[in-house]
Amino acid sequence: MANAPVVVLGSGLAGWTSIKEFRKHDSQTPVVMVTASSGDAYPKPALSTAFAQAKTPAQLINGQAADLAASLNVSCHANTRALSLNLSTQQLHTDTQTLTYSRLVLAQGAEPIRLPLSGDAADSVLSVNQWADYALLRERLQPGARVLIMGAGLIGCEFANDLAGAGFQVHLVDPADRALAALLPEQASAALQQALGNLGVVWHWNNRVTSVSRQGSALQALLANGETWQVDLVLSAIGLRPDTSWLADAGLACDRGVLVNPCLQTSDEHVYGLGDVAQYASAGHRLLPYVMPIMTAARALGATLAGTPTPVVFPVMPVAVKTPAFALLLALPAPGVNGAWQATDEHVWQFMDDLGACRGFVLGGKQTAQRAKAMQWLAA
Ligand SMILES: Cc1cc2nc3c(=O)[nH]c(=O)nc-3n(C[C@H](O)[C@H](O)[C@H](O)COP(=O)(O)OP(=O)(O)OC[C@H]3O[C@@H](n4cnc5c(N)ncnc54)[C@H](O)[C@@H]3O)c2cc1C
Repeated sequence: MANAPVVVLGSGLAGWTSIKEFRKHDSQTPVVMVTASSGDAYPKPALSTAFAQAKTPAQLINGQAADLAASLNVSCHANTRALSLNLSTQQLHTDTQTLTYSRLVLAQGAEPIRLPLSGDAADSVLSVNQWADYALLRERLQPGARVLIMGAGLIGCEFANDLAGAGFQVHLVDPADRALAALLPEQASAALQQALGNLGVVWHWNNRVTSVSRQGSALQALLANGETWQVDLVLSAIGLRPDTSWLADAGLACDRGVLVNPCLQTSDEHVYGLGDVAQYASAGHRLLPYVMPIMTAARALGATLAGTPTPVVFPVMPVAVKTPAFALLLALPAPGVNGAWQATDEHVWQFMDDLGACRGFVLGGKQTAQRAKAMQWLAA
């Protein structure tokens, strides 16, 4: 099996970047990519800002699968789904064939969480996590459409900003009582809500969609408080979850994602993982479903796969919330840190721990330009 290829599962940022990093060290070892998608590369963060950038789905693609495969000396099996894994024979079974690997890289991301909704149009609810999902959303969006978004988290608020800014009527429904409730201090949520409200976003707090039915050519969304709203499209943005069931069935240690050690190795020595599917020992056993951790992890993995075991070390990686009406930059305290948010300037909040040290920050609006200064607070 030592002569078998390195097999990479998934053609998202984690898959392609791992291969690019590996190829910096090793141009010869055969690499096979298996992906349920077309394999074309695109910047996923741009999906929630495409209207503001005046881009069509096709214009978001920044690398055709065939070109990338040729330039990286990769055999790409596109539109191919992995179904199961045999760790003892080192074989990945797909819907078209069985592939033997020397090393397997799990980079298959996560799946949108689906709420069990009733109603005869429940299956029309869209989620956007891949380019093809976004292409479908754009196909269904007629000018002036009324859109109901489920979930006022990062993705829901970004889509609300992009769609409302492009002239769509946006309703946002969330069981919490404010935007990004799990991440932001209350005043930051309020500033974001006001800015998006100015664009016409209608908020529905302490509420959730229970049913979506057809009403002529439109949809009727029923909320838990009994209100009904007639809309043209419902977009679910309630979160993602890695599908670990088949990995666990194969015998890999999984929790909320597939568990990987500091060298990104799973509980099987021939199988590695990174990206939205991975739960990182190097990050306090957290999922890190963001771009910067993937770039950092892929660099370490490239070296490890080429024969130099390299633990991944994650720096502090603030996350930008792409809501231009009121942009935000967040560096959240690690889970379990006790403390409280304090407003220290207009649209600046610091998370101070019990010993008075700054352990996180939120910058809003123009203050997002103060990133370098804010990073120093964490280092102090
Ligand atoms: C709308 C949106 C905006 C975002 N904005 C930001 C941002 O501004 N900043 C930031 O840091 N992060 C952002 N993120 C998160 C970031 O984009 C993701 O963390 C990252 O792109 C995940 O990459 P990945 O390669 O792990 O997974 P994915 O991109 O999901 O790729 C997974 C790949 O695996 C394939 N696959 C899945 N299952 C199988 C299977 N069984 N067999 C074969 N192939 C399979 C899929 O087809 C896909 O090609 C955003 C996410 C979304 C959805």
